[in-house]
Amino acid sequence: MNFARRLMAVTVAVLIVTVLVLVVAAELWIRSDLEQELRGNLERQASLLREALPRDPLAWGQFATRFGAAGGIRITLMDRNGRVRADTDVPAAELNQVENHAARPEMAAALAGRTGQAKRPSSTIGRDLMYVAIPGGPAVGGPGVIRVALPLDQVDAVVWRRQRSVLVAALLALALGVLLASVAGRSIARPLTETALAARAIAAGTTPHFPHSGIPDVDALVGALRGMHEELEARFDALRRKQAETEMLVNAMVEGVISSDARGRVLTANPAARRLLGYSADRPLPELQVLFHQKAAREVVNATLQGETIPDREILLDDRTCLVSARPLPEGGAVLVLHDLTDLRRLEVIRRDFVANVSHELKTPLTSISGYAETLLSEGVGSETSKRFLETILANAHRMQQLVDDQLDLSRIESGTWRPAPRWIQAEPALGDVWNELDLPARGAHRFSSEIAPGAEKIFVDPDALRQVLVNLYDNARRYTPAGGRVTVSAKPEAGGVRISVRDTGTGIGGDHLFRIFERFYRADPSRSRAEGGTGLGLAIVKHLVESHGGRVWAESTLGQGTTIHCWLPTPQPA
Ligand code: ATP
Ligand code: MG
Repeated sequence: MNFARRLMAVTVAVLIVTVLVLVVAAELWIRSDLEQELRGNLERQASLLREALPRDPLAWGQFATRFGAAGGIRITLMDRNGRVRADTDVPAAELNQVENHAARPEMAAALAGRTGQAKRPSSTIGRDLMYVAIPGGPAVGGPGVIRVALPLDQVDAVVWRRQRSVLVAALLALALGVLLASVAGRSIARPLTETALAARAIAAGTTPHFPHSGIPDVDALVGALRGMHEELEARFDALRRKQAETEMLVNAMVEGVISSDARGRVLTANPAARRLLGYSADRPLPELQVLFHQKAAREVVNATLQGETIPDREILLDDRTCLVSARPLPEGGAVLVLHDLTDLRRLEVIRRDFVANVSHELKTPLTSISGYAETLLSEGVGSETSKRFLETILANAHRMQQLVDDQLDLSRIESGTWRPAPRWIQAEPALGDVWNELDLPARGAHRFSSEIAPGAEKIFVDPDALRQVLVNLYDNARRYTPAGGRVTVSAKPEAGGVRISVRDTGTGIGGDHLFRIFERFYRADPSRSRAEGGTGLGLAIVKHLVESHGGRVWAESTLGQGTTIHCWLPTPQPA
């Protein structure tokens, strides 16, 4: 039963009880008032009758009948001995059979000289009667008693008539009360219902509507609810901010982060983790035990899910090396952090190779220098031979010098201490002049041409860097192209920049070497290149110089047909 109905039911019950009490009380009051009045009347009538009572005993019967009929009452005349001498309701012939009335309470009181009264069913006529008796009836051996009586059903009729109006008024009051209770119930229940709705909205996280009832108690409740809602909102806001912050942090991390529940189901995985595990953002992740199928990784996962904390471990995820830090969560589940060590490991290899390469490159000329120097120190070397030996020593020293210079160049570019200072220069002279400056004999063995496409007449580049790039590319082209071959340099606009290409008709480079020739010390044909005096740093320098301009390099080649090295340099776009 809802609040409004309950309130109404209680009110109606209270009203009914009140009305019943009123009706009963009214009945009692009316009846006692009425009986009081009747008794007074009866007593007065009895007094009048006493005055009018004839002396002749034979007239008593007629007296009782006549006056009783006239007054609508019953009159009884009793002598001092308790014998009934006349009665309105008893024929004279039957008076002998009427029992002695002296013991009746009202009669006894009247015989004692007082006014007697009583209320009871009459044994003579069988109805409820009200009796009033006074002394002074038939004087036979002393004064007797005059008693008048009235049937009580007359009283009942009067009481009922009065009671009827009370009942009508009570029913009217009841109807009015029910109406008011239903209105009041509804007006109290509405704000309560609305408050309940507001509470439900708060729980559901939607915007609540707070009612205003004007009832202080209900308004206090609504106020408390509103305060709670504001407090909750503020806390949720803080939580949401904190959560967004954490989420952003985790998402921005270079390390892969994965968390799972106690059964190994993945709850979160940041982009780095997905990248490392090879799962795109929209692909669902399987359970940890399936995700990490490698033996070492699975051991880590299982141990952590069982609540153990085990030391960080290096594992292989397909082709990547990762360091896994795994920690169990207090409520079950695990957090895994994956450190990608692949690049670090590759750098270590490069550094190792680099040291080995440099040592190797230095060792050959050094061995040769020390060998010749030792020979020179020993006796019996002719001056002609000494000269040759010294020339060889010098050549090797030059080679070492070259190696060190190139290496220093590379370091400078790489470390960022050197920065290109690009400016607009004319393409034609810049590309052609460098060729002409190369050693004459070597240059003469090849035909050289340059092709400048429209739109590439000017190039935006650091002139010194361009010069160094071209020296290296021309040097290679000439070195790896037999005499009589052709070297062509071209410049043409391309994708917001200019592409400079050096094409030769030389030996070409095999497919498996082609993508590595820009690495330091890499030589497609080490013995030949070394014999030519190359150290394998030229193209690495070219690559770094071009990239320091924001450009890129690549190579195309067919074995036996020739090679083309492309350099693309960006052109500043007008704002
Ligand atoms: P350095 O240039 O340092 O004196 P290098 O010429 O050997 O020595 P790079 O210029 O870096 O070194 O070239 C790397 C390798 O690429 C060469 O050893 C060679 O095998 C190959 N290469 C480069 N350019 C050409 C080319 N035009 N034709 C054929 N092979 C080439
Ligand atoms: Mg070279």
